[in-house]
Amino acid sequence: MAEMTSPMPSPRETVETARFWQAAREGTLLYGSCRVCGNCHYYPRLACPFCLSDAVDWLPSRGMGEIYSYSIVRRATPPYVTAWVRLQEGITLFTNIVDCDAGALAIGTNVKLVFALSTDGHAIPVFTPIGPSFTLGSHAGST
Ligand SMILES: [Zn+2]
Repeated sequence: MAEMTSPMPSPRETVETARFWQAAREGTLLYGSCRVCGNCHYYPRLACPFCLSDAVDWLPSRGMGEIYSYSIVRRATPPYVTAWVRLQEGITLFTNIVDCDAGALAIGTNVKLVFALSTDGHAIPVFTPIGPSFTLGSHAGST
């Protein structure tokens, strides 16, 4: 789990979202993929938000993406980063960027999925930077 200095708020788990949260507890981020119109969506739903078909598969994301937009909430104690992250699967989700130098973030920064715990123990999908500006272990300097 990612280290957060403040606990994440607890999500409201419902019958429809229970499967999503169980997968998250097991380290998997699920998204929806429609077999009728071919669009992907997040969060996963029982019916496709584009064509309303119920032929929706809930698929595991690879958890790799980039920052589409972000904001540093400096007035909070401690400050934190909210962001829209676009995943390789084509979905975009609102999330937090954790374990980072907020001042070094940029639109297009590569990020990977990690999970943070909410106050009641839910695994919340958040992201942490990877890539040339953000090294995890050794770094060869490639793009
Ligand atoms: Zn559809």
